Amino acid sequence: MTVAARTSGTLGSEARPTGWAPGPVTDLFVHEGPLLLRHLGAPADLASHRARSGPLPTPDLPALVTLLSDAAVRGRGGAGFPLVRKLTTAARGRRRAVVVVNAAEGEPDSGKDSALLRTTPHLVLDGAAVLARALGAREVHVVTGIDRADTTRSARAALAERDDRRLRWSHRAAAARFVSGQARAVVELLEGRDGLPVTAWEPAAVRGLHGRPTLLSNAETFAHVAVLVREGPGAYASLGTADEPGTTLLTVSGRLPTAGTPTDDRVRVDSDPGPQARVIEVAHGTPFSHLLHPAELAGPVLLGGFHGTWVEGHVLADLPVSAAGLRRRGLTLGAGVVLPLGARACPVRATAAVTAYLAGESAGRCGPCVNGLPALADAIRCLADGEDTRPRLHELCGVLPGRGACAHPDGTTRVVRTLLAHLGRHVHAHLSGRCSCASACGGAG
Ligand code: SF4
Repeated sequence: MTVAARTSGTLGSEARPTGWAPGPVTDLFVHEGPLLLRHLGAPADLASHRARSGPLPTPDLPALVTLLSDAAVRGRGGAGFPLVRKLTTAARGRRRAVVVVNAAEGEPDSGKDSALLRTTPHLVLDGAAVLARALGAREVHVVTGIDRADTTRSARAALAERDDRRLRWSHRAAAARFVSGQARAVVELLEGRDGLPVTAWEPAAVRGLHGRPTLLSNAETFAHVAVLVREGPGAYASLGTADEPGTTLLTVSGRLPTAGTPTDDRVRVDSDPGPQARVIEVAHGTPFSHLLHPAELAGPVLLGGFHGTWVEGHVLADLPVSAAGLRRRGLTLGAGVVLPLGARACPVRATAAVTAYLAGESAGRCGPCVNGLPALADAIRCLADGEDTRPRLHELCGVLPGRGACAHPDGTTRVVRTLLAHLGRHVHAHLSGRCSCASACGGAG
């Protein structure tokens, strides 16, 4: 990693090449933030981290439960589950708990966990140590994506420096697949099997790694814990809103396909997103108009990444960053991936490309993925080619969710469903040959 300036840093290219299927986001710009990313550019080694951050408080379980409840800390991997519920559930187990830091980032356009592990890895590991000590856990496992070589290298270097008493740290690399970051897939990987999702009858906090209570959360979640215990709830809540104190990380990336479909050699993917691809730390409640450039809000935005929701940029502009508030509007922040399409690109063709990619990324085990997602990808490709398949798409979006072992079918149909529900005028324009892609790639037909 090279750090370009005091207030921002560039993460150079990771190993996987770009294209459809897309590799992890490249040339990511990381901006300095108020809490998690405030020491950007400072040395990341343990001695330097301790010198600037001070000693790490280690609250006992009741004190930590109070802190996490007051600060309403939620997991930042997409589901937004309250961390305190995972903690108290894992603490009730009869067997010794384990802690898992999930930085697999199977979503190619997510870069926030890589940004943390490459610029301030010990903040993430401090949070894991705090939770492990409160639980009496002796093991902490860290998982990164195998295609994110620089992130993996940084995580392993940081783990080698840890000197926490009574804690054993380990690292595993997850395969470069979209579903590799799913919680059960991570548990599978750590148990020595293929890192693919499986049906689970109990949450990992009840029965996870080798049947033990497992506190598994996203890397960003652990960084928030470390900041919270050091700063205290007052300072943490000085940012954000009463319901959602503190900050969150977003990855803004402009790599949606702008024309064509994956089966179409006219596909164009912006493989050099330049300064548009960035990780930013924002206080909850900040309007999106303060975060995104006017050009990024001039067209549709896929909010929440490839399992996210389409929304018109001018609608998003007035909305605040709030997982709960966006959910009430039928939108999702997911793991904080924001994908502006731009005013001149076609969301129908972009959805066709994303759906085909996701259909190919399933574990191929459950009916909705084996049969349903290819059918969905086929129907949306036909729509992109000018055939009005909206009735078929509505039908598939109605039957596929809730039937897989994991939420991959739910997330994939969500993109298609919100294309039809939120971007109906674009779909109509596309079918009637008035879409921007008509000039870009010869029209819908
Ligand atoms: S729903 Fe799909 S991705 Fe999830 S476990 Fe089943 S086959 Fe795999």
